[in-house]
Amino acid sequence: MSTLLVLCESKSGKLKAVTREAVSAAAKIAKALNASVVAVHIGEVEDAAGLGAFGAGKVIQAVSPELTAYSTEGFAQAAAEVIKTAKPIAVFIPATIRGKDLGPRLAARLGHTLLSDCTDVRVAGGKIEIMRPMYAGKVNMWARPTSECPLIGLRPKAFLAEETGTAAAQVESRNVTVDAGKIRARVVEEKLQEGGPVDVTEADIIVSGGRGLKGPENFGMIEELAKILGASVGASRAAVDAGWRPHSEQVGQTGKVVSPTLYVAVAISGAVQHLAGMNSSRVIVAINKDADAPIFKVATYGIVGDAFQVVPALTEAIGKAKAEG
Ligand code: FAD
Repeated sequence: MSTLLVLCESKSGKLKAVTREAVSAAAKIAKALNASVVAVHIGEVEDAAGLGAFGAGKVIQAVSPELTAYSTEGFAQAAAEVIKTAKPIAVFIPATIRGKDLGPRLAARLGHTLLSDCTDVRVAGGKIEIMRPMYAGKVNMWARPTSECPLIGLRPKAFLAEETGTAAAQVESRNVTVDAGKIRARVVEEKLQEGGPVDVTEADIIVSGGRGLKGPENFGMIEELAKILGASVGASRAAVDAGWRPHSEQVGQTGKVVSPTLYVAVAISGAVQHLAGMNSSRVIVAINKDADAPIFKVATYGIVGDAFQVVPALTEAIGKAKAEG
């Protein structure tokens, strides 16, 4: 039976949601191709067996003393060794910041094709095909990799993590050889943001503000709306360039690419470079006083109005609805 391999990602000893999304996506493809899903985690992780519920038959934990912290070269060496032994038909990699760092290095090391930041995968004519946005998200194309064992980067949140069973995955720890001399940069310290907001790439709901908010002090109402929705705050580049918000919150072509369940764009015009970062969101709500703003072309729901009136009213209404249960 052929194998589909998924590179897992974890944080603080637990698998991240992107891993479950990638395993679920792989499970669907594997079913159509009569293949099995093998997940690979670099290092050991608590909840490896739980990936069975998402469709992984086996989890390989690649172990070496050189792999306690992330390094591009160390992780690429370990992943390449497992891939060479497993000979999968494809490798799925979450297109997170780490995945986007590791994927190209791994592809170069293996001499395989890399298709980055895919938003959908399917099987057509017995072959894997992937969907990728092009031209800053103006066009979506279906592409069929023609080389053997392509590496496929999956955009976080673009795929649903679906529990399809209860069986635990078989977990195997495997020693791998890592040449420490080839690791050129090492993590010496990690400072975790305690209790801080979820990064926009991982957030299920995002409320973003733009230049129309006129100043950093007016992001208070964006934060309030975000709080009541359990959302993270995002921003357009104009708001970031003005120094109103940190670059880590910038959504778009030169910021972060996000695919939340709900994206609320407040006083953002919807320039193509902004849309490139958020137009694969499941539901988009736009609030803008200009009825002709391009953001309305991609919005699921649009509110034409003054953000300074609409946002507090929305926050209040959601608060009331929540209080009433
Ligand atoms: P504006 O375009 O100025 O829009 C403000 C909007 O607010 C308007 O639509 C206006 O009608 C509305 N408004 C004003 N007052 C109110 C009010 N009271 N209530 C409601 N609505 C109101 N941009 C990004 O966002 N992310 C990127 O990653 C990015 N990368 C770029 C890369 C390149 C190479 C280039 C050239 C540009 C990039 N940009 C990016 C910039 C992009 O082209 C736009 O300039 C930017 O997105 C505009 O931000 P904005 O929508 O907040 O501001």
